Order: sequence, then structure tokens, then C-alpha cells
Amino acid sequence: MSRFFSEKYTRLTPYTPGEQPRDMQYVKLNTNESPFGPSAGVLAAVTEQCGKLQLYSDPESTALRGKLAEVYGVKPEQVIVSNGSDEVLNFAFMAFGDDLAFPDITYGFYPVFAQLNHIPYTEIPLKADFSIDVQDYVGIGKTVVIANPNAPTGLCLPLSSIEAIVKGNPDNVVIIDEAYVDFGGESAVSLVDTYENLLVVQTFSKSRSMAGARLGFAIGNEKLIADLNTIRYSTNPYNVNRMTEFAGVAALEENSYYMENAKTIMENRQWTTEQLEALGFTVLPSKANFVFAKSDRIDGGKLYGELKKRGVLVRHFTKARIAQFSRITIGTKAQMETLVKTITEILEEQQ
Ligand SMILES: *Cc1c(COP(=O)(O)O)cnc(C)c1O
Repeated sequence: MSRFFSEKYTRLTPYTPGEQPRDMQYVKLNTNESPFGPSAGVLAAVTEQCGKLQLYSDPESTALRGKLAEVYGVKPEQVIVSNGSDEVLNFAFMAFGDDLAFPDITYGFYPVFAQLNHIPYTEIPLKADFSIDVQDYVGIGKTVVIANPNAPTGLCLPLSSIEAIVKGNPDNVVIIDEAYVDFGGESAVSLVDTYENLLVVQTFSKSRSMAGARLGFAIGNEKLIADLNTIRYSTNPYNVNRMTEFAGVAALEENSYYMENAKTIMENRQWTTEQLEALGFTVLPSKANFVFAKSDRIDGGKLYGELKKRGVLVRHFTKARIAQFSRITIGTKAQMETLVKTITEILEEQQ
């Protein structure tokens, strides 16, 4: 830290992204990326926009917001787009977070955004089985942030539970982060016209194979979206570049390609869960493109290290409550076969 760093940030612990090592070719199951490439229309749209880079992007992202509104059955005024969903989450924390509540085990960026913006926050422990106790949040009187499905557990609340939380906090915004909703979850977008305090956040990074393009969005009441735009126009009106905007439009035009891929991931998730259970692992029931699993036969940190040595990357968290677990992204069937074969070898060498 230099002696010039502002006093207001000296205690900030930044988010740690999953590692992207370059030393060898890994089977990369550590950052929940899609194993499938973008569709042909996305490639064509990016190429076309590349020729217009001298021009600013549309600060209103009119084409993309129109397309999102059409696909999700809302008005364009109910949609905001962002540079990855991380950005719109930060905007939402800035706009609506005077006092926050989220689970103790959830997306690691929430406490970072809270600290960055000097917002006090309460981390509410998940139950022993890692599920969210809905009653903990009903009437809490704070801005609530819930990832549904949750990360890194993969567990999903039914829409009725989300509605109970939204209904139970009429004077606070409830932010539902649906980064993984396309892998078997139930979206709360259907409730945005009923509840003016609900904000639903999604991303193109996971199910739509665009992690490297950085595109996220939020859907909610028009007034909530207007507030988010006040923050956006006060930081970066051109937050979504023109290649990404039109890649997003093309991806939505080819939505069925991505939803088919999501189905394949769900099948591979089922297969991987069965294989890991046969090896004696405990696997939480996941509705995401990853599984969260642990074994009594090997320490979580050790398994991570042994897999990495053999060219397979998974995500390990050191937080005590989850240190025995590995978060394993679901990739292609071939990648999952490599994972299972490698874990089998590691366990055999343990004997
Ligand atoms: C991956 C992820 C995001 C954001 O990803 P972006 O690439 O910034 O869109 C947000 N929330 C959760 C829970 C995630 O796992």
C-alpha cells in the first residue's frame, strides 16, 4: 500500500477471483464458465461492431434492453444493463444499501461491495444443511441480498420463499441475484410487476457463454431502474461497449442454443453427482452449473492441491465452515469423466 492510498479504503479486502494459471493446460472447473463457445450470430455481431469502434456505444443500450424486455416479458424501462452483473450489483448496493443482510455463506463479492461503499452488513448463518431459513429474512428491515441459486452451495429456494421475503420487507429493496437461474432455478422476474421493492439481477457470463464479454442486467420496477441509472450516469454512461451490446442481442436471438447447452450441463451435473456419491462424497443438491462436494476420505484443501497437480482446477474456499468442500464447475461430459477418473486415482493413492 502506498502512503497516498485514501484512508477510507485502507481496510478494504478486495474480492479474490478464481485463479487463471497459464503454466499448463488445465481442465478448468474453477470459475463456473461455460464449456461451450458463443453462437455464430454472436461472433458475427462482434465482428460487425469492431468496424465501428471509433463511435461511442449507445449509453441507453436501446437495442439490447428492447430485446431483454421482449424475452423476459417486461418493459424496456424496467431493464438496466451493465459491465458484468457485478457492476449492477455494486450500483444496487450504492443505491439501496443503507443496511444490508445476506447469508454467511454466499457470493464473496457482497461483503466487498458493502465495505467499498461503507455500508454496514449482517451475515445471517445458513442452517446446518446450508439452506436459507426464510424466516430469518421476513420483516428484517434491511436491504436483503440473496443469490438464488446460492453460490457456492448451489441450493435453490422456491419462488414462494422468495416472494415471502419480498412481501415481508415492503420498505426495503430485496435483491435476488440469479446468476445461475438457467440451470434449473425458478426466476423471480415474474414478480417484478407485483412488488416495487424487488430487483432481479442476471448475467450472460454463465448460461450464455459470455463471461469474457462482461454483460449483466437487472430487472425491476421502473423507479428502481431509474435510481440505478442515476448511479450509472454518475460513474460510466458507456458501461456496456458496442461489441458486447450486440453480442448480447445476438445471444438472445439464439436463446434456444444456450438453453439447450444449459440442459446438457444439467445432465452432466446429474451424472457427476452420482459418480461422486458412488465415491463416498456428500454432494449438495445443485440447481447451478457447479456442485459443492466433500469427502470424509480426503481434506478439502488437499483434494484441491492434488487435483491441480494432475491438471484439474476446482475452487476451494478456506472459510472454516466450508473448508472441507470443493466447488466443481460442470463442464463437458469428457471433462467430468477426467475429473472423476482423477479423483478416483487420488483416493486410491491415499490408502
Ligand atoms: C458469477 C456470478 C456473478 C457475476 O458475474 P459477472 O461475470 O460479473 O456477470 C454474480 N453473482 C454470482 C452469485 C455469481 O456467481
